Amino acid sequence: MQYDVLIIGAGSAGLSAALTLGRCMRRVLLADGGPPRNESSPGVHGFLTRDGIRPAELLRIGHEQLRPYDSVEVQCLEIESIVQEGRGFRATGVGTADDAPHTILARRVLLATGVADILPPLPGFRELWGRGVLHCPYCHGWEVRGQPLAVYGQGRTVTGLALLVSRWSSNVVVVTDGAGYLTPNARRRLRHQKIQIREERVARLVGSAEHDLQYIEFADGSQLQRNALFLHAPQHQRSALAEKLGARHNSKGAVWVDSAMETSIRGLYAAGDTTPGTQQALLAAAAGSKAAIVINESLTREECPR
Ligand SMILES: Cc1cc2nc3c(=O)[nH]c(=O)nc-3n(C[C@H](O)[C@H](O)[C@H](O)COP(=O)(O)OP(=O)(O)OC[C@H]3O[C@@H](n4cnc5c(N)ncnc54)[C@H](O)[C@@H]3O)c2cc1C
Repeated sequence: MQYDVLIIGAGSAGLSAALTLGRCMRRVLLADGGPPRNESSPGVHGFLTRDGIRPAELLRIGHEQLRPYDSVEVQCLEIESIVQEGRGFRATGVGTADDAPHTILARRVLLATGVADILPPLPGFRELWGRGVLHCPYCHGWEVRGQPLAVYGQGRTVTGLALLVSRWSSNVVVVTDGAGYLTPNARRRLRHQKIQIREERVARLVGSAEHDLQYIEFADGSQLQRNALFLHAPQHQRSALAEKLGARHNSKGAVWVDSAMETSIRGLYAAGDTTPGTQQALLAAAAGSKAAIVINESLTREECPR
């Protein structure tokens, strides 16, 4: 086999796994297929020692700190397929800079390919994503604390998120963009926190360079001034590699892993946002490190038969 481990994805999870495996002197190929999920955000918050760092700068440091580890190779490469071969895997991909085809043989594969967020198809959501349109109060709540905020969505999802966001501001409005599917109990709980509800259809979000979000414009032309809008957007996997291999997914579409971060396919591991659980850059980095340790131990067991 060419490599001990092929790591697919060079975000927090993949870079962290590469660092730990490099320190184990493992032959690693880190396939860097493009920007991370938080690319449009001005800062990564809550990352110990790096609070507020630009996403690109966090990854730049991650790459820089891989340099001493000669056994780790990084290539700008999008992996397109993986098949099991013998006791390992054969992967194929294309260079993202030169379109050159690549074939990689590796004993183990770690998927660190992340997820993508599906935003409402209304003007302003994509344009303001990561600035005035925010996905998580743990990541961005502090930056907009005490300000006029909106929480977008319906039913239990919007209720839970709005109650959570009310920890950061007492001026929160739920915007349901049509029928809100809010139960009487949900309405009571929101009212108790003094959270208003607007059930008109939304036409667009309007922002500016100084104010990331300025106002929400409803279909009837009325406007609601807000400095930020939170939503729990649905997600999909950035890569279909696990699905194509037949790996098990959970009901929310995350790649299922056992307590050793192995998927239902032997030798295929996964870490970071691609797996179930809380999604944060620091947690993805920790999961990448943990996956690297269990992969190294599984390779060691194979190399040291009883
Ligand atoms: C707008 C926004 C702001 C955020 N802010 C914060 C914050 O302030 N603090 C915080 O802790 N978290 C924040 N997050 C969450 C954070 O971005 C994620 O938890 C973190 O990026 C997960 O890391 P990851 O390595 O699992 O995935 P990612 O960082 O998304 O990295 C996955 C990588 O895999 C690559 N890839 C995918 N498919 C392939 C393939 N086939 N071949 C090769 N490469 C591939 C992708 O291009 C990407 O580079 C934010 C998220 C969003 C959307």
